[in-house]
Amino acid sequence: MKDFQELISSYRNFPRKGIVFKDLLGILKDPDAFKELIYTMSEDEVIKNCDAIACIDARGFIFGSPIAFNIGKPMVVLRKPGKLPGELITADYELEYGKNSLSIQKSSIEKFSSFAIVDDLLATGGTANCAYSLLSKLGKEVTGLSVVAELRNLNARQILEMEVVSQIEL
Ligand code: AMP
Repeated sequence: MKDFQELISSYRNFPRKGIVFKDLLGILKDPDAFKELIYTMSEDEVIKNCDAIACIDARGFIFGSPIAFNIGKPMVVLRKPGKLPGELITADYELEYGKNSLSIQKSSIEKFSSFAIVDDLLATGGTANCAYSLLSKLGKEVTGLSVVAELRNLNARQILEMEVVSQIEL
């Protein structure tokens, strides 16, 4: 098992004062670690039990697309404002460092009844919760959230109404 912690860098006061930004991109520079991570994430029940993988813009795409490719499941995207064409369903949320919204193309999810949400990092849980609300309001089942890393001290699990799987605790 690779030591993922040593591949993650911390940047104080980025993108705002008071935030310690966790940069996971070091994992991508180590192909063995990246492969191990994707294979491990793909094995989880949250991923195995879903019809499709719903990835969160933008760093969720980095990890969600190889998982979808690896296990041969469809992938859909939840994107930030101004990125998606067509008929959209949108919800607002608060971030550890600001406000934002996520949209999904209505047509992208019609065929599927259950989704695993994938993102790079779980902080306050606002983003994941927004993705969960969007999908569940549309009558979709959410099998859970799979993230690479989790900031445990922020206690996001307390507010999330779905199973959470993380590979690294920071
Ligand atoms: P949250 O909604 O607070 O759980 O924030 C999760 C989202 O914001 C993820 O998509 C992360 O990419 C990003 N994010 C929030 N806080 C951090 C952090 N300290 N370091 C890196 N990314 C973060």
